[in-house]
Amino acid sequence: MRTLQNHITVVTPQRMKGIPAMRTYKLFIGGQWIDSAAGGMFDDVNPFTGEVFAQVAKAGGDDADRALAAALSARKTWASKVPAERAEVLMRAAQLLGERRDSFVNVLTAEGGSTFGKSMFEIVQTVDLLQTAAADSKRIMGETFHTDPRKLSLTIRRPKGTVVAISPWNFPLILSMYKVAYALATGNTVVFKPSSKTPVIGLMIGELFEAAGGLPAGALNIITGPGSEVGAALIKDPRCSFVALTGETATGREVARMAAENLKEFTVELGGKNPLVVLADADMDLAVNAASFGVFIHQGQICMAAGRIIVEQPVVEEFTRRLVEKAKSLPVGDPALPSTVIGPLIDDGQVSKVDDLVQDTVKAGAKLHCGGTFSNRLYQPTVLSGVNRSMRIYHEEVFGPVAPIISVADAQEALDVANDNTYGLAAGVITRDLKKALLFGERIEAGMVHVNNSPVDAESSVPFGGCRGSGMGREGGRYSIEKMTEIKWLTIQKDGAGFPF
Ligand code: NAD
Repeated sequence: MRTLQNHITVVTPQRMKGIPAMRTYKLFIGGQWIDSAAGGMFDDVNPFTGEVFAQVAKAGGDDADRALAAALSARKTWASKVPAERAEVLMRAAQLLGERRDSFVNVLTAEGGSTFGKSMFEIVQTVDLLQTAAADSKRIMGETFHTDPRKLSLTIRRPKGTVVAISPWNFPLILSMYKVAYALATGNTVVFKPSSKTPVIGLMIGELFEAAGGLPAGALNIITGPGSEVGAALIKDPRCSFVALTGETATGREVARMAAENLKEFTVELGGKNPLVVLADADMDLAVNAASFGVFIHQGQICMAAGRIIVEQPVVEEFTRRLVEKAKSLPVGDPALPSTVIGPLIDDGQVSKVDDLVQDTVKAGAKLHCGGTFSNRLYQPTVLSGVNRSMRIYHEEVFGPVAPIISVADAQEALDVANDNTYGLAAGVITRDLKKALLFGERIEAGMVHVNNSPVDAESSVPFGGCRGSGMGREGGRYSIEKMTEIKWLTIQKDGAGFPF
């Protein structure tokens, strides 16, 4: 499989064919496209043009109830399919997603502000994810225990029941599919709630599986609406068996609390403030490219973004100068133009949040080398040096195209600074020294550490996720299978059990 970086550079973007016309979208419940029970709609806004791109049914508690009822009614049929049948559905969805690539690119751009390279990465990775989940559906395994010769003792895995999947807007296709594909691969039914900022991509997942065929009505249900209302109705309901959320840390806390109160298992994939460490012996071309990619991909709106660039003092000047040159060279503008690298932030709230943080950092004494300005939702690539722990930007997730550079005296201080944070999602370290690479690999407190790469990387079968404030649990491959199935100890007594009375 190609890496994320390869996708960004190898695609030939001649397939951009324009943004589709405004449309209305309904909920997908019990295999039907239906209006919300209360009949409400909400606007889905194009972040670049500010125009309404789509109007989408606004689900409420009654719709959550209808979706859970449909998912419950489909459980037995879907769980009793042989794995090869489940795999076939997922493989057909993978193929159709490849065939519908242009429509997905256009909608990722229209409602999410994705550039062509980012959309292509997301789509190609999602095809791979569906194929991996199809293969994994045939690899759900148990164990035998040779502990007592009088009995056969083993474990089996059964679907949990109904998975409630809740996803964010920044990578709305792949982060939804991690949940939907693995829930279906493991024989669960699904109620899926996409982000209200990117609802159409979520509903297109419904269209994809509808066209793929083979799912019983109700195996996949998609409801769009406010997370605080619909999410709570889904999670607290006894028909929800497992919750898979990707979102902000505050949302993760709330979802984990609701799930725990109702004794539901969950995975929560949350925010990050990921260190990229550049040691003095680093290949400087690699360091600058890793930083630029790690900071500016999707305008910095990615959980794995390089949120703190920690550079050893002897190379900090050269590194900063070269990163600034690179940042200034990145084309900023309309994400529908194939040459654009930096498109719009998702909404005005995000622009204000990013700008507040940048201005606050400058006021606190950091040096602004470039950027720090915006027009509409286009925020210029920004590089700040002289960042230290007294500044908010040292601690807080930015979710914008901003590179905060922290200078450190040596490798030990770099490690201390890397761990001086409440998050623990991903990290990168750039060094030619194998011993230091291993030390950082082992000691950085994060779920994913990449040596000589940016913190931004993903593959469908690896354990994707973080620790501390970045979440609980992992997604992908056998890690999703373990989470979304119930393990059961099963024994068959061969000889007498030897009861004492
Ligand atoms: P968000 O938390 O605002 O929303 C995520 C989803 O949760 C949405 O569908 C939303 O409607 C729903 N939601 C909100 N409140 C809810 C509640 N009380 N109960 C149930 N559902 C609720 O996050 P966002 O702004 O969409 O996404 C950006 C955040 O996601 C960033 O912090 C980013 O770092 C994080 N993220 C993490 C990963 C990862 O894998 N760790 C990946 C991508 C994004």
